[in-house]
Formats: sequence, C-alpha cells, structure tokens
Amino acid sequence: MISSYNTREITVNGEKFEILIDEAEIQKRVVELGEQISNDYQGSIPIFIGVLNGSVIFFADLIRNISINCEVDFLKLSSYGDAKISSGNVKLIKELNADIKDRDVVIVEDIVDTGLSIVYMKGLLKSQNPKSIKVVTLLHKPEATKYDIKLDYVGFQIPNIFVIGYGLDHSQKYRNLRSIYALKST
Ligand code: 5GP
Repeated sequence: MISSYNTREITVNGEKFEILIDEAEIQKRVVELGEQISNDYQGSIPIFIGVLNGSVIFFADLIRNISINCEVDFLKLSSYGDAKISSGNVKLIKELNADIKDRDVVIVEDIVDTGLSIVYMKGLLKSQNPKSIKVVTLLHKPEATKYDIKLDYVGFQIPNIFVIGYGLDHSQKYRNLRSIYALKST
C-alpha cells in the first residue's frame, strides 16, 4: 500500500489535506442512513440513482446497508474539471437506462455544494414522471448552497471547504482514500 494513503495528513501538489471524517465515522453513518432509508421505503422497491463518478464509493456502501429490495442506475453529469469551485453550469453526460415512471427514486450524491446539480437532476427526473424523488447525500456544505433544495437524508454537514477521498476527487485522483480529507487552511 502507498504509505500516504494511510496517514492523517497527505500532501497533494504541495497542498496539505488532513482527515475531516475518518473511515469508522463514515461507515457508522452509512449504516444509519441505510437503516433509515430501508424503514422509510418498506413496501416499495426504490431505484437508487448514483451520480457518477463521485458517488460510487458511497453508493456501493449505502446499498449494501439497504435491507429491502431495490434497483440501481446511474447518471453522469459534467464535473468541475480540475477546478475546486463550481463552474455554474451542468451538462448531462450519461442518461438513465431505467424506466422510472411511477417508481420511487432516490438520488445518491457524494456532496451537495451550490445545489445546482440537484436542481438539474430533479428537473430531469421529474419529467419522466416518477412516483417520488428523494435525495440522499453523504456530505452537505450548507454555507455554499445557493439553491432552494430539499435534502431528505444527509450524512454530514461540513464547512465550505474543498474535500477529497471516499469517492471525491482531486483532478480525478484520490477517490480511493478511505477517509474524507479537507484542504488545510494555513
Ligand atoms: P453542486 O452542483 O452542488 O455545486 O456540486 C456538486 C458536485 O460538485 C459534486 O457532486 C462534486 O462532484 C463536486 N464537488 C462539490 N464540492 C466538492 C468538494 O469539496 N470536493 C470535490 N472533490 N468535489 C466537490
């Protein structure tokens, strides 16, 4: 194993990141979210829609904590590219394959920042006439959120700082870190 993948602090392109939420805390919260969602959807077979690429790790852990029948599908939106701030526009790169008409849909996000991606996805999915749409996000930056959005399940609220790990990238890398790291303010 690369030793830097195990430490509390890592350096990326000269910038220092330190653990904000460690692996054990994440796993505990994911179990809780799985239980809560499973209870709320008793009697239904929801479709979990993962938002590529960032949500894959959270998605895989979350659905293994869902104790009712469910289906999965994925959407891909344009990302920030290599920037750390939102470009302010969103494009669809990969569409859904599933037919979501009259289905209970749960959007699974890694992080909600401005909220634009959620606004965009809800609009897109609503036009396909699902029975319901709810949102689960592992992380939420309330101070950065500019849109009036409802987040049904939130893992952790975090300050308005750039984070990596557990699916979240830094120029496409570091998604495989097992904890969530935040850019250290110097
Ligand atoms: P929003 O549309 O809410 O502004 O942004 C959501 C998307 O921005 C997330 O799915 C994620 O791809 C990206 N994003 C927002 N904040 C961060 C962050 O702190 N770190 C990383 N790696 N990506 C982020």
